[in-house]
Amino acid sequence: MSATALTNIGSLVTNDETLGNGALGIIEDAALVFEGELISWVGPAAKVPATDQQIDLAGRAVLPGFVDSHAHLMFAGDRSAEFAARMAGGQYEAGGIRSTVAKTRGASDGELESNLLRLVDELHRSGITTFETKSGYGLTTVDEARALKIANRLTPETTFLGAHVVPAEFADDPAGYVDLVTHEMLTACAPHARWIDVFCDRGAFDGDQARAILRAGIAQGLMARVHANQLQAGPGVAIAVEMDAASADHCTYLSDADIKLLAGSNTVATLLPGAEFSTRSPYPAARRLLDAGATVAIATDCNPGSSYTTSMPFCIAIAVREMHLTPDEAVWSATMGGARALRRTDIGRLTVGARADILALNAPSHLHLAYRPGVDLTHQVWIGGRAHRVAS
Ligand SMILES: [Zn+2]
Repeated sequence: MSATALTNIGSLVTNDETLGNGALGIIEDAALVFEGELISWVGPAAKVPATDQQIDLAGRAVLPGFVDSHAHLMFAGDRSAEFAARMAGGQYEAGGIRSTVAKTRGASDGELESNLLRLVDELHRSGITTFETKSGYGLTTVDEARALKIANRLTPETTFLGAHVVPAEFADDPAGYVDLVTHEMLTACAPHARWIDVFCDRGAFDGDQARAILRAGIAQGLMARVHANQLQAGPGVAIAVEMDAASADHCTYLSDADIKLLAGSNTVATLLPGAEFSTRSPYPAARRLLDAGATVAIATDCNPGSSYTTSMPFCIAIAVREMHLTPDEAVWSATMGGARALRRTDIGRLTVGARADILALNAPSHLHLAYRPGVDLTHQVWIGGRAHRVAS
């Protein structure tokens, strides 16, 4: 197998504190070697072993590819008019999802797939090398299953979110919809999904419904993650911890008890600052979560209603500016934090044996991601050792 060395790396983020400085394990003047899909050597440039191919990165920063652990990419249409109305003073409510549901049901498989491919290309350009996507805009057995089937061709991290909102045709019978989600729809979707999720919030599903939905998914071999506490304080976070969910996502409205629960659990607090930005909502108490010892991930929440961004650097910049993460904490949360939120140990780090999912920046340091907001700093992305974007 041929080996490729990335040499003359100005600053290498490994996310292994035993390899370099700080929590990010930074090695200055570094090199990295990968063979096939995996990393085989990391260390100081002066000691790089001989390889068939060398790529001189001219002092650029290199970090693990971003892990986007929360996105909704299986949809049709957009909601730019709703965004404009909200910016003019309207409020975000979970019910807006129904307009995307109508468009998604009307789209062909080919239209859903080409929209997904367009968004995945954007994710990669922003430095994301692993992405999760949920269903949740079909809300019929056929439409949820086809969304997951299409998504599963591009990522193993697919999440069944039949419990996104109660669709209009079940408005008078939410219990009937929960029954559909936990039986027929789940059976059709489980073969194409790794995760089960529920939107436990005002206008969506209550605590008892959320528990029933998660339990049904777990019984079918899926692992849990929860949309929790986005629109108001509620039982979402406590349920996520109680069910050992990999992640409680949003966490916009947290009680002291929620923070304590997260800090004492295996459940990652996944923060989605693009959603607060795009709905003009207060940002979550990220500092309090980190100071209490909770594990924090940052993800894009890419979706047409409340966070239509595919840019992890944008989310990092907001997390630093508005949520008071340090630039190091934000980069860790967008890489290793995302990996933890997906319960993955092979990604989110650049160490021997990890996947060669690598981001090289047009900048000398990862600090530039927050320091230069809105600027495309992606130089090159490798996914499983394969160069994805032509160097600029
Ligand atoms: Zn979401």
